Amino acid sequence: MTQPSPVRVRFAPSPTGRFHIGGARTALYDYLIARQTGGQFILRIEDTDRKRFVPGAEAELMDGLRWLGLDWDEGPDLGGPAGPYRQSERTQIYQDHAEQLVASGHAYPCFCTPQRLAEVRKLQQQRREPPRYDGLCRRLDPAEAAQRRADGESAVIRFKTPREGETVSVDLLRGEIRVENASLDDYILLKSDGLPVYHLAAMVDDHLMDITHVLRGSEWLPTFPLHVLIYQALGWEQPIWVHLSVFLNPSGKGKLSKRHAQGKDKGAGGVYVTDLQAQGYLPEAINNWTALMGWSLDDHTEFFPMSDLIESFSLERLNPSPAAVNFSKLDHFNGLHIRGLPLEALVARIKPYFEAAKLELPIGEDLLLRIAPLIQERIRTLDEAVEMAGFFFSSTVDPDPNELVGKKMTPAESAQAVRRAVQAIEAVESFSSAALEQGLRELAEELDLTAGQLFGILRAAITGQRVSPPLMESMEILGRSLVLERLRQADQALQKVAAAE
Ligand code: GLU
Repeated sequence: MTQPSPVRVRFAPSPTGRFHIGGARTALYDYLIARQTGGQFILRIEDTDRKRFVPGAEAELMDGLRWLGLDWDEGPDLGGPAGPYRQSERTQIYQDHAEQLVASGHAYPCFCTPQRLAEVRKLQQQRREPPRYDGLCRRLDPAEAAQRRADGESAVIRFKTPREGETVSVDLLRGEIRVENASLDDYILLKSDGLPVYHLAAMVDDHLMDITHVLRGSEWLPTFPLHVLIYQALGWEQPIWVHLSVFLNPSGKGKLSKRHAQGKDKGAGGVYVTDLQAQGYLPEAINNWTALMGWSLDDHTEFFPMSDLIESFSLERLNPSPAAVNFSKLDHFNGLHIRGLPLEALVARIKPYFEAAKLELPIGEDLLLRIAPLIQERIRTLDEAVEMAGFFFSSTVDPDPNELVGKKMTPAESAQAVRRAVQAIEAVESFSSAALEQGLRELAEELDLTAGQLFGILRAAITGQRVSPPLMESMEILGRSLVLERLRQADQALQKVAAAE
């Protein structure tokens, strides 16, 4: 097999909002082919739309990318041979190229006022024609237009889209896309404030940055022919174009909407990377999940650590069809990746969640290392570790007395069972989970209770929870005196309930 040549790819987000899983997927695919081929992954910030600029968005993006492990080779922070990598620092470059297009007859200045354009649009609407520029300034004599600009008249630069013929654009996944040029508009390339729009800036940058493969959202398909025309007008060789599938709502109907963006409970997920991070999702799981939203290796492999993704990913196996976002799949992948972590790594991942929960006792790693094996199989997200095992870091637990009452038992019977458990636990010689289990199962039999009845009471008494890690192992970690203390407190609470009856 021939080695694939190194690619140069870029992730080119606009800092206009939060870092979304759609962007994370594009960046992941870029990263994967860059690493697979020994190429470069470039981060370019497309911040030419000053009206939609959101302070802090760039930092959120970079933090999110780093957290996902998608390190870039060139970018605004790192620099590189094709910089600057922030479009707001490249204005002159775009202006020069706009002028070059004007000089070569591929673009022209347009002096039409917003008022005039609004009137044109209104008339077109009345005539049920598609809204587009009517070409008034296209017909101006270039020398006259140049003079008006020299005199200081405000102008935008428009692309002089050919009126005849068709443009053939080639997308790697969709093949040839043909459009009649007559159906295209004379799009604005440079605004009157001298700032470029995406159509100009991105094409210029992709060329100057030697981008070999452009991976971007399929929302750019409608203006794809314009981008091809710009490349042709500048006499440049085109990159390989790859328009990625859109995300649909979990129901499969409609584009992923804001309603699903927030994410509340598990299974609702949310679409912003930092929210998923806070909810205890692993970057590995998010990468695995987004990788498979539009790509597959075959019809059965679903567990992909990053190294496998780098090895297996291929653009040819991308699927152009829209993909419904499935948050329960994310939970599923999160579980798989949590279970795949070495214990030390799991401890390092869960520790911040325990720390953030402001529990009573210091969060010691030794203790976490003993707890980790008990919860590794049971949690879907890292924050669930705290829900499940937070009680290890409290000196007391405070169960609702009614929770202490065993199934089909009275409070008095339950108190009696607790007292007998205290005796049994005092009697076990080595305080190990195996010895505890044996002693307490024997006790259940003696008391004519099922193990479930007795252990339910003990679980509530010792952990303060209805759901907990395995009880015997938890007791072993807590130690004999703490276990006995909690059981004695439970006995008293149950006696109070019994007396009140
Ligand atoms: N800044 C564009 C966006 O965020 C980038 C599109 C592209 O990758 O070319 O949609």
